[in-house]
Amino acid sequence: MITQKRCKKGHCATEGEKQMNDQTTSLSQIKELIRIFRKKRGWTNEDPKDIALSLILEGSELLEHFQWLTGDEVLNNQKIKDAISEEMSDVLWWLVNLGDRLGIDVAQAFERKMEKNEKKYPESLFSPTMTQEEKDRAYYKIKAATRGGHPLYEPEQEKEKK
Ligand SMILES: [Mg+2]
Repeated sequence: MITQKRCKKGHCATEGEKQMNDQTTSLSQIKELIRIFRKKRGWTNEDPKDIALSLILEGSELLEHFQWLTGDEVLNNQKIKDAISEEMSDVLWWLVNLGDRLGIDVAQAFERKMEKNEKKYPESLFSPTMTQEEKDRAYYKIKAATRGGHPLYEPEQEKEKK
């Protein structure tokens, strides 16, 4: 177990006990663990291009676990989910590493992008009461507007609605 602090909030972990979880572990703690791991191995000067490439390669390894299975089969197979969790960790590693190497604060970038997402996908256009068809139509309309068209956007349906 890679860890810096064995004692947290008055509780000291015993050997083998896992301490990290989404509720208590910050992105900066993960970043620091990666930095220490890399520094000890002399992996400190990777080309950002190689880091970006590695991020996508790990994303592909993640996808491989879904190949030939349905979503439900994945949901109900703990061995597959364990394997997926390892690839998710690899993706996180390279994502945080890329931010570190490029001087990009990942949480700040996420916050800025969420603000953009709020504007791009306003709650007024996507209510939980919409049918899947209505959600799809709204989604493809936005995609068409931002990408200069989308094969699944059918403007004729918009006219019929009016
Ligand atoms: Mg991997």
